[in-house]
Parts: sequence; structure tokens; C-alpha cells
Amino acid sequence: MIKHLFAVAAVCSAITGTAQKKADPQTFARSITTTDLKNHLNVIASAEMEGRDTPSPGLEKAAEYITAHFKKLGLKPGNNGSFRQTYQLSRDSLAVLDLTINGMPFKGIDEVAPIWTSDDKLNLNYSEYAFVGYGIVDQNRDDYEGLDVKGKLVVLIAGSPKGFTPSVQGRLASTTFTAKVRNALAKGAGAVFIATKEIPPRSKIKVSYRPEWEKEAPGKAAPVFYISADVVEKVSGHGFEEIKAALDNGQTKPGMNQGSVTLNYQLQKDRATASNVLGVIEGTDKKDEYLFITAHYDHVGKDAEGNIYYGADDDGSGTVSVLEMAEAFALAKKAGKGPRRTVVFMTVSGEEKGLWGSEYYSENPVYPMDKTTADLNIDMIGRIDTERMSADTLNYVYVIGHDKLSTDLPVINEGMNNKYTKLVLDYKFDDPNDTERIYYRSDHYNFARKGVPILFFYDGMLKADYHKPTDTIDKINFPLMAKRAQMIFYTAWEMANRDAMLKRDLKLPE
Ligand SMILES: [Zn+2]
Repeated sequence: MIKHLFAVAAVCSAITGTAQKKADPQTFARSITTTDLKNHLNVIASAEMEGRDTPSPGLEKAAEYITAHFKKLGLKPGNNGSFRQTYQLSRDSLAVLDLTINGMPFKGIDEVAPIWTSDDKLNLNYSEYAFVGYGIVDQNRDDYEGLDVKGKLVVLIAGSPKGFTPSVQGRLASTTFTAKVRNALAKGAGAVFIATKEIPPRSKIKVSYRPEWEKEAPGKAAPVFYISADVVEKVSGHGFEEIKAALDNGQTKPGMNQGSVTLNYQLQKDRATASNVLGVIEGTDKKDEYLFITAHYDHVGKDAEGNIYYGADDDGSGTVSVLEMAEAFALAKKAGKGPRRTVVFMTVSGEEKGLWGSEYYSENPVYPMDKTTADLNIDMIGRIDTERMSADTLNYVYVIGHDKLSTDLPVINEGMNNKYTKLVLDYKFDDPNDTERIYYRSDHYNFARKGVPILFFYDGMLKADYHKPTDTIDKINFPLMAKRAQMIFYTAWEMANRDAMLKRDLKLPE
């Protein structure tokens, strides 16, 4: 369902008709060059930035680089005298984690790891435990049969027995992790241990962050921990597969077991911060109206082995495009052709963690949302979609949001593109049947949900090197990226200079 829309003649004349007094943006668009983009990206996507995790020293370095660039261009600080809008994070680090079973100590995160606890501190002490096999409760099967597990420690095995078919398939199957935990809690378990062959890497993270405005899950529920096959083998003296086989053929049955189990767990609670970087070019006769140009400057950092995730395309490409557009508008301002509306260049952090920075901005806006004419957001515009089968592979960009919130969006964007850049604007991701739900997956969404019309520009790099250490600068197509950035600049130019703010005549679908 790829749909290519080009501006019709009527649209062009509508735009040129209001443009008599406007300056020619081409002079300024030309300042967006492959050389400049490359120089900036060489810094933003360098090893020194360590993958720009939120929060991290590498992210701070990137913020400083962006701030220095804004200052050099003569931009004004965007947040009441500061270039930064800082938000608070809670930092939880694992301080104590000791498991002892029958006098055998286990301390390593490879052996025991928290999945969920509602407490920052736990001291569990049991003299017996309920072994419930796979812990499955289904139409014709109840692994808890005859067992009263109220307040007891429940131990179960991940996965499902050979030859067992749950009565319901898919996400709601009785063999899923969530169904098993839900059942254990419903039966009144005091604590749950899930024995698994290998503890998933995600559960081994010892330090985690979350925005302070996101409250912890309310209420108390039994804590759930992983224990590894290694723990099971050492305690039982039997192989993990051997135990599963014995369960499968009925040699071993669920039941109560004697044994002393103690678990001490404690989190250390600290705070941290991260920030958005905002630089502003003040408008002329419409300076109390605002146009936002955004990209996220964070990425996913490093993995446990120290591999850097450079994030050259995601979203180094968007970040450096914002820097270059800021330069183009700054040059226009110096030439006496500054924008009528105030243009806010904002690079946000925490996008990869869950749109934290843009969420914080949208809940604590520096400029009124109802006076913000639009947000043009960029998240990946430096590469080519490896899945793209069309012939125009070297001359396209995906545009998302053209049919939502404002009917002005496609008119302006297509009009300017048709006049100056002639890229194929591909609306594939606006197809209501598209499963990627891209509209909800980057920072523009936090503007859209507040009613601000948005366009989102994207190259389709979801296969290839997405969120891998191989998203590196050598794979960037700089001429294509410069052309895309220029196209967005032209659109921004029109939005910042046209007589009226974008009308808000469409509803955002649920
Ligand atoms: Zn991204």
C-alpha cells in the first residue's frame, strides 16, 4: 500500500501566492551540506560518546556539543535562560542479593535475579517450599492440585512439558510466564522462584533508571525471582533436563519439600538527571507562536561486553540535521530574513527508554502547546530501507502523520518538496493497516497527543542495523541525508513564515 503523493498545481500556487514578501530560502538551505553533517556526526556517533545512553557521561558530552553549537550560532537558550531542560530520574541499583539453600550460598546474578518485587528490601526465610513442577493451571491440569501454597515459597520450572497443548494458544496460554506468575499469586504464594536454564540478560541488569514522575507499581504482591538451572542442580543433585524428564514421565510429582531457603535482597535508591537541549531563534512579528524541530540525541549505550551502540542513524542523523537546520535559520536571521515565528530546536534524551525527554517536555512545556504551530520530528534519515523494493530507493523519505491533526500538513510539505527538493514522500506508514505503529513510537507523539500537528521523517531502517553496534557512520548516505534535511528545512521555513498557524481540523485516532 505504498502511496506516493505529489503536490498538485493548485497547492503550489497557494503557497507561492502568500510568499510575495518572503525571502528565498534556497540560499540558506544550501548551508545544509554533506560536509557539515558528516563533521557533526563524526562527533555525535563517535566512540567517545559511548552510545549516548540515558543517563550517561557520553550523553552529557553530546548535550555539551549541541549546546556549544547553538551558542556559536547565536541561538538563545530555550528554557528560561538555560539551554537545558533537566528532568529527574530514580536510580535503583542492586546492593544486596544473597540466596542460601540448605546452607549453600548463591550470590551471582547468573544464579539468582529479581524479576519483580514491590519492596526495596526483602529478607525471606522459609523452612519448606512447594515444588509445583511447571506451575501450569489449565482446563484439565492443575499442577497445584492438593497443595496449599498460601504464604509459602513456590518453586516452578519455566517452559512446558513435552506433549502438552494448552487449551488456549498464544499470549493467553497457560504455559506463558505471565500466566504462571498470575496463578502462583492467585494461589496465595508468599514468594515465587522460577527455575530457568539461563537467566535472560534483561533480568541481569544491576542498575536501572526510571523517570521520577512514573510512580512505582502500587500495592504489595509476592516477589518473583529467577533461579538458574545451576542452582537447581547443586541443590537437588540432579541435572535440570533430568528433572524435567522425570516430571514429563510422572516419576517426579509436585509436592511440599523440606529445606531451608533464605533470600536477602536490597536496592540502593539514588537519583540521577538527564536533559533536553533547547535553542531558540526568536521570531519577528509572530514571535509568540512557535515551530518545533526535534530529534532525540540519546541512544542505547553499551552492552555488558562493552560493545558501543553508536546510533549513527538512530538518531545521530536526526540530531545533526537539527544542528544544520539551526545554522540555516541563524544565517537567515543574520541576513535580516529571520523567521516570523519563533523556531525552537530541541534535541531530547531518553527516547530509547520510552520517550522520557519528550514526555517531560510535553508535561512541562516552556512554550504554550496551543501556540505551537507544529513539530517536525526526525528519527533516522541517513540510510536506505533495505526492504524497499521501489526504484526510487535513492530519492525518498517516509513521512508519517500527514493525514492526522491538520489538513495543512501535506499541503505545505508536498508543496515545498515539489518546489525545491522533489523527493518521493512515501506515506506507507500512515496506512491504518500498517503494523509498525510508527506514529506512536518516537517523540513527535508527545506533541501529537497534546494536539500539536506533527510530521515525522524516517528512512525505514528497522531491519539492517537497527539497535545494533553496527549502526555506524560509514553506512550513512550523506548526499541523501542532506537532501532530506533540506526538504525538512523548506517545510519548516514555510511553517515559520506563513500567515496563519496550522489549523487543527482533524482528530487523532485512538
Ligand atoms: Zn530513534
